Amino acid sequence: MDPTAFAPEHVRNLDVYQPGKPIEELERELGISGAIKVASNENPLGPSPKALAAIPAALNQLHLYPDAGGFQLRRALGARLGVSIDELSLGNGSNDMLYQLVLATCEPTDEVLAHQYGFLSYRLSAQVAGRAFVAAPVTSELALDADALIAAITPRTKLVVLGTPNNPTGSVITTAQAKRILAALPARALLVLDEAYVEYAAAWPEVDHVDGMALRAQDPRVVVLRTFSKIYGLAGLRVGYAVADKAVCDLVGRVTRTFHVSSLALVGATAALDDVDHVAISARHARSVIEQMRAEIKGPGVKVYPSLTNFVLIETGRTAAPIYDKLLRSGVIVRPMAAWGLPTCLRVSVGSAQEMPRVIKALNDALA
Ligand SMILES: *Cc1c(COP(=O)(O)O)cnc(C)c1O
Repeated sequence: MDPTAFAPEHVRNLDVYQPGKPIEELERELGISGAIKVASNENPLGPSPKALAAIPAALNQLHLYPDAGGFQLRRALGARLGVSIDELSLGNGSNDMLYQLVLATCEPTDEVLAHQYGFLSYRLSAQVAGRAFVAAPVTSELALDADALIAAITPRTKLVVLGTPNNPTGSVITTAQAKRILAALPARALLVLDEAYVEYAAAWPEVDHVDGMALRAQDPRVVVLRTFSKIYGLAGLRVGYAVADKAVCDLVGRVTRTFHVSSLALVGATAALDDVDHVAISARHARSVIEQMRAEIKGPGVKVYPSLTNFVLIETGRTAAPIYDKLLRSGVIVRPMAAWGLPTCLRVSVGSAQEMPRVIKALNDALA
């Protein structure tokens, strides 16, 4: 069939998503076993034990549709975050929240603005809806350049989306930067702070970074996105949320598909929210592994960027594809960054304490 006959141009222009191969498939192809995957920023300490304990009790209710309003989870989140349940929207992960926000708020001529090395979904969520995406340049350290971002704001800017900490760079934005951006934002626009890694940033109290929830309390144009996929270890369940003004949540609710968050996701996430130990242990582990990676990964032209997340971005000083292949053959799966416009970089997630010596040795061998 000829796609030009039935698909809109903005859909035909989308890149096809290249899913990473499952670890078993790679092992079979390469004839290896015991491969380590440090490519998707998953929690190496596993799912929240409290979520695992709560889910089985919900299994015999699987014939019922989930609670469409996610009432229990929203109530638990509201109590935890000090917001009303009308200021919370749930999604199939926080990625899904972003797509819903674009759908709910952007006119056909509106623009989504991010910076050049933001998360790929910021671009995709706009393009899937046929909205213009604008990427502002960054600093030489690949971090937010608030002046450049502000210069890229136009009367059509509807959503400004910034990860803090950001994926794939690991960097944060400061309170002062966020306030400057808000001051420059048209009244009709929203500042979306993607805090997928915010619980990891808590392990770095000495680093100044914006507190999205505090800023939101001061300015209703701030939307905070969070997820259960990262520190809570529930990436497979697909659940995230937005904290936003009631009016924004109301609009998002109109475009959301009914029953989009599954009952097991609701139960698992509600239980995980209480798992403060798992969160604290995971954050401490990530910080110590990041410090270890920054101290021990070396090679000519190699730079390991600072990161308040559970991964580091590594500048390899050369085209990274051959290094990626070499790592693969030694059974270490990392994330190549060419699709993000960083062909000389690799992203390496924090692994478990048992995995890290092998990951660091393989990296140093490949980067030597
Ligand atoms: C992982 C991640 C998310 C969340 O993804 P979901 O699994 O859809 O919740 C959001 N933003 C960034 C920057 C991420 O890295």
